[in-house]
Amino acid sequence: MVAEVPAFKHKYTERVIPFTAGDGMALNLINVQGEKPPSKCPVLLVHGAGVRANIFRAPVEVTIVDALIAQGYDVWLENWRASIDFAPNLWTLDQAALYDHPQAVKTVIAETGVSEIKAIIHCQGSTSFTMSAMAGLIPEVTTIVSNAVSLHPVVSKWSLFKLTYLLPLVKVMSQYLNPHWGVQAPTLIAKIITLLVNLTHHECNNAVCKQVSFTYGSGFPALWSHENLNEETHEWLKEEFAAVPLCFFEQITRCINVGNLVSVQGFKELPDDFVQATPKTDARFAFFTGANNLCFLPQSQLNTYEYFSALRQNYHTLHILPDYGHLDVFMGKNAAQDTFPLIIQELEKTNT
Ligand SMILES: [Zn+2]
Repeated sequence: MVAEVPAFKHKYTERVIPFTAGDGMALNLINVQGEKPPSKCPVLLVHGAGVRANIFRAPVEVTIVDALIAQGYDVWLENWRASIDFAPNLWTLDQAALYDHPQAVKTVIAETGVSEIKAIIHCQGSTSFTMSAMAGLIPEVTTIVSNAVSLHPVVSKWSLFKLTYLLPLVKVMSQYLNPHWGVQAPTLIAKIITLLVNLTHHECNNAVCKQVSFTYGSGFPALWSHENLNEETHEWLKEEFAAVPLCFFEQITRCINVGNLVSVQGFKELPDDFVQATPKTDARFAFFTGANNLCFLPQSQLNTYEYFSALRQNYHTLHILPDYGHLDVFMGKNAAQDTFPLIIQELEKTNT
């Protein structure tokens, strides 16, 4: 069943603004505005790995995009190189941090004429955007709401086991994992993974939902609680997850083993180890995560909050959301009541 679009959404204007990443890759931004022109600054929303900008627009009554527009914000959704709207590519966090996010921010600034913007960043959009901020590449961003993970990725023992031992086996046959294999498994490795997932996951009948859990965490499911999703969203997500390159998993495994983000490509603009370098940013961070996050454990954001707070006290904030996990913070049927007001409250604060 497809949810009816609420009347106010018909009055949105939506523009796709192409931009070119620093290495020439063609990417885009989606600007969504309500009936009235925005009265507040642009907010850039940055999605995670193997999804797309649309992940912020699940079929729930009120999405984070709706909530921001209702508050007067100018909403910009960034499709960076990890977006499944583009051909699968061997991206790294380094490339996103150096090439994608700085150009996305510059494009929003150029299109709107403002000098400062705010951002809501999720998962690998958050790690890579945090890298851009810490490297001093996005000084125009003054407030950053980060969900799930930023500087310190911490995962469960089972997730680390999979990353350490299963990843090299998969790599013999494929450069990508793809939760959409649950719907269509075109290759031998796709069939093997799908069989493995179907043998070990019995939490629901949605093959993509189960494969997402296998790919990104260690729960049943890993990225949300079924109780937090409406039926339409559980069905919708089948087409919202696709290829993610193993080279990204290799980088995040290195980061997990070190305990914080490290770069892997030797770009001179990025520090080798992000904790060892002084952050070149004055942005205020509001760190969020779900208490039940089974993709990156809540310890991830706690560590980063403590790291940033040691550098500047009483400036950054941390919210650990009870009864929420990883993506239901945005996709949850009750997120408009439970999480969006907190996110918006953080955007509304002035930095002093
Ligand atoms: Zn499910």
